[in-house]
Amino acid sequence: VRERGAVSAAQPQDGGRHRVVIIGSGFGGLFGAKAFQRADVDVTLISRTTHHLFQPLLYQLATGILSEGEIAPSTREILKRQKNVRVTIGDVTEVDLGARTVTSQVLETTTVTPYDSLIVAAGAQTSYFGHDDWAESAPGLKSVDDALEVRSRIFGAFEMAEIEPDPEARAQWLTFVVVGAGPTGVELAGQIAEAARHTLRDNFRSIDPAEARILLLDAADAVLGTFGDRLSGKATKTLRELGIEVELGAKVTGVDFTGVDLLGADGSPRRIGARTTIWAAGVRAADIGRQLADQVGLQVDRAGRLPVQDDLTLPGHPEVFAVGDMVTLKGYPGVSQFAMQGARHAAKTITARLAGKPVPGEFRYRDKGSMATVSRFNAVASIGNRQFAGFIAWLLWLGVHLVYLIGFKNRVSTLVNWAVTFIGNSRSERVVSHQQSVGRIVLNRRRLGPLGTPPSAPGDRTS
Ligand SMILES: Cc1cc2nc3c(=O)[nH]c(=O)nc-3n(C[C@H](O)[C@H](O)[C@H](O)COP(=O)(O)OP(=O)(O)OC[C@H]3O[C@@H](n4cnc5c(N)ncnc54)[C@H](O)[C@@H]3O)c2cc1C
Repeated sequence: VRERGAVSAAQPQDGGRHRVVIIGSGFGGLFGAKAFQRADVDVTLISRTTHHLFQPLLYQLATGILSEGEIAPSTREILKRQKNVRVTIGDVTEVDLGARTVTSQVLETTTVTPYDSLIVAAGAQTSYFGHDDWAESAPGLKSVDDALEVRSRIFGAFEMAEIEPDPEARAQWLTFVVVGAGPTGVELAGQIAEAARHTLRDNFRSIDPAEARILLLDAADAVLGTFGDRLSGKATKTLRELGIEVELGAKVTGVDFTGVDLLGADGSPRRIGARTTIWAAGVRAADIGRQLADQVGLQVDRAGRLPVQDDLTLPGHPEVFAVGDMVTLKGYPGVSQFAMQGARHAAKTITARLAGKPVPGEFRYRDKGSMATVSRFNAVASIGNRQFAGFIAWLLWLGVHLVYLIGFKNRVSTLVNWAVTFIGNSRSERVVSHQQSVGRIVLNRRRLGPLGTPPSAPGDRTS
């Protein structure tokens, strides 16, 4: 495709090497940066976190299977041999499309970075559907901090139950509510059940961890609704066999530190006493999307996602691309492949412009399928028009995740940890630190961002 505005979009404003700025070090940001490996450009990657987070395995960090280093390697380390990339920490507070600058902040340091091309891959954050006050009592699962907090709450709850003399209070400590029966909720509930029934066996003297009550709630009428009836049915059956109480059509109306209020499927109000509630019910796009939308006269959708053009650019700004979870385009799903493919498409377009070659034009997403584990040796996978359930799907899941994990050492140590957990029924990552238990509460109360900076926008949660 020969495009209008391509020359101006490719021209560096200062006459030097073309400057590409990438916001975010998630799937879009990292794979976008890597795609410039052989390009004659200077790339600056600005991210709120110093790591690249492999979110699909966050639930394993939250349930003591993997360590944070295995799923969140240092972005700087991954890109150290790519000399045309500079990695910087920063909470992006403003993108000025007219001046072509990105302003970021950490502690008292504000940095203004000029760009010739910009790729925004700021992802999404947990959404409490207008009830942000629930965050303190029901952490989500979007960041390393979230997962460490969830881990400390899960394993800490068993410790509290062990010393609690009152049976009713003890039952509350042994009740775990997961809100949201999508892949994250299902995987989390499955692993809490596995930990309670297998890993923690013989660890306690006053309680039997296997008596833990695990509830999986969703307002929708199916578990893993996007996987279709057959796989959804199989996953529900496996969850129930694990002793998980699956309650569908249940609308949560309140959450606090001692339980969850809900309207059951029949519309009747009820309260579940539980000291551990985990929110896996919704996400909303990064706030920066709204800021970009306002500057070009677009409206974000209900989940705060920015509607991009077919080639992932913003109208009137061929030099600005937005990719991944923060955008909406033709109903493509908010999954890692969409972010990676989108970022590579943006990089290809920029390098083609610089070489004066035809650009790829319209972005077309290639669906590589989706999968979710339900318990050990049991998963569901939907690839093209083929569906798999049980052990075969679990093997597929294992292979795919090993391929996409970053770094040889991480793959080896992850494999060892999986063997320890799935064959040996043990978990090595069970540290419950005071910092993890109270960290999020302190951050939320003080409303702090990375390294203690104020967050970039009202309502923003720190990562
Ligand atoms: C628990 C969980 C399980 C998942 N499982 C799967 C799965 O099995 N398969 C699958 O395909 N997908 C899965 N996903 C979805 C997948 O992880 C996302 O689609 C993917 O991460 C999106 O990539 P992204 O680059 O758009 O955003 P992200 O990976 O979220 O990256 C966003 C980046 O932007 C940075 N950032 C945000 N705001 C700012 C700012 N203001 N300034 C600077 N930096 C900023 C963040 O720190 C982060 O580095 C899962 C997600 C979660 C949460």
